[in-house]
Amino acid sequence: MAKFIIANWKMNPSSVKETGLLIDSLNKEIYLNKNIEIVICPPNIFLQKASLLDKKRFNLGVQDISREVKGPFTGEISALMSKSLNASYVILGHSERRGLGESNDIIAQKIKNAIKAKLIPILCVGEKDRTHDGSYLNFIKSELMSSLSLVSKKDAKNIIIAYEPIWSISTTENHQNATGHDFEEIKIYIKKVLSDMYGLNTANTIKILYGGSVDNKNAKEFIDSGADGLLVGKSSLDIKKFSAIINILK
Ligand code: PEP
Repeated sequence: MAKFIIANWKMNPSSVKETGLLIDSLNKEIYLNKNIEIVICPPNIFLQKASLLDKKRFNLGVQDISREVKGPFTGEISALMSKSLNASYVILGHSERRGLGESNDIIAQKIKNAIKAKLIPILCVGEKDRTHDGSYLNFIKSELMSSLSLVSKKDAKNIIIAYEPIWSISTTENHQNATGHDFEEIKIYIKKVLSDMYGLNTANTIKILYGGSVDNKNAKEFIDSGADGLLVGKSSLDIKKFSAIINILK
């Protein structure tokens, strides 16, 4: 089954020109591989420019959508607008957005809008710290249960979950590297929560990815530990590292 590589460019690059250069190098350096589904998530303002990416090799995604459907919401961008610029995926509940005050209830509304607009939601969950008492498991459970509270069993099949422990994200102060074992443990737990919510068959169809300081050195470890793909931040802006990650998965 194809593995997902989601590139989260965050608030990069800084100009249309640099975006064009990154797009050119992706088109040049990354070859077609049926076993990998690559999703490039540029800032919205560069989404149209990103349509220059070869559609056979790259899918487009956005990094967020509005909780509202349309109307007087200055600065907001809707699910339908993103879809109309050929996005097929949307990252939701990223810890950097949660850090700006986004609650699970807001994320639930956004997931509902995404599904209605036929965007595939990539729901990010992950704890700030791994405490010895195991309370991070309950934290992840409540992120999953609340964020998916408006998703039916039928729609749940298409959701993608990205486990991104905040302590392992490259820009977190004093970040630590997660291990394949850390991921394996959480994957079992996430699957159990999803299975309690939707039944085992549906839970088995939901892809569970890993994200947090993924690079060409550790990508294989997470895939070998059962990740259905990787969410890549910083390394997705470095064409050498990004193509090496993809080549590792071949
Ligand atoms: C992220 O924050 O989504 C992420 C994966 O970042 P990085 O790879 O830079 O840790």
